Amino acid sequence: MPPNAADVGEFELIDRIRARTALARADVHLGIGDDAALLAVPPGERLAASTDTLVAGVHFPLDTAAADLGWKALAVNLSDLAAMGATPAWALLALTLPQADARFVAAFADGFAALAREYKLALVGGDTTQGPLTITLTVLGFVPDGAALTRAGARAGDLVFVTGTLGDAAAGLHCRDRAAADAERLLAAPTGLREALIARLNRPLPRVAQGLVLRGRASACIDVSDGLVADLGHLCEASGVGAEIDVDALPASPALLHLFDAEARRAFQLGGGDDYELCFTAPAAAAPVLLGDLARSGCGATCIGRIVAGSGVRVHDARGVPIAPPRRGFEHFA
Ligand code: ADP
Ligand code: MG
Repeated sequence: MPPNAADVGEFELIDRIRARTALARADVHLGIGDDAALLAVPPGERLAASTDTLVAGVHFPLDTAAADLGWKALAVNLSDLAAMGATPAWALLALTLPQADARFVAAFADGFAALAREYKLALVGGDTTQGPLTITLTVLGFVPDGAALTRAGARAGDLVFVTGTLGDAAAGLHCRDRAAADAERLLAAPTGLREALIARLNRPLPRVAQGLVLRGRASACIDVSDGLVADLGHLCEASGVGAEIDVDALPASPALLHLFDAEARRAFQLGGGDDYELCFTAPAAAAPVLLGDLARSGCGATCIGRIVAGSGVRVHDARGVPIAPPRRGFEHFA
């Protein structure tokens, strides 16, 4: 491969990442630069830890902008903390790059920092290696002892809710596909609609504030990363229950409603990945106050069904007619 004018050494790259993500926190006793970070967990809190990897060509199209990748790598990890009801604090970044491209790293770090600043999250360490483009991020946060949301507490009779809207990111991925059968129709759509969906794909908003509202009030919670039916299925399995979902109750964005017919919309909403909304359950009696508090937090939630005895996720329409479940959610090695 020809040398790239912007190529620099490993330590220069680390320095640039550190400079562009710099953020002071009193609980970081030692950050980037030594062999390990030294961090202080507040008394009475548990450390919530989660990690996620993004592989080029698997988790994102190869031509995704570096700044979007930096944002998204953090967003998908914060979504996991949100689903636990945890407050984000720190992150570690393992970056594997085909070449030491300083421009790529600067843009990546800026995208990361834009979201990190919103949560006062400090990047405290990582690793930088050469190889196929792969981003592994570990996030750490706090949750008071005994207060974490888990997948396991749903009970028959609870209602099922989801924050925000579903299907936008999967529809956005479809909109980027110039080989799609309806590519011309989509390109001719009013400006802003395709862009709104693609923005949901590239810059997901983790529902951290909503996870905090749900703490101690939702009976179970999971973030929707692999598709609603797949992820609600995981929640049901962990709780030992089943769920019935009304496909006509699933929240849809104006852009999704405008650009796709009911059949395409349902496929994106039930089976599309990358939503990063929270799917949670709660007793019906708690719902009105909870929904009001969520709406005030900046992202409301919608009731989409209920928990039943048994197992598995069944889908029906508003008239009660059963709907065939979508293709399975994304699974590696499947
Ligand atoms: P070591 O060889 O001891 O693991 P490294 O040379 O890999 O140390 O890293 C030096 C310092 O830079 C460490 O504090 C490490 O956590 C940090 N670091 C390395 N790569 C990254 C990165 N991509 N993002 C943030 N910090 C990093
Ligand atoms: Mg190292």
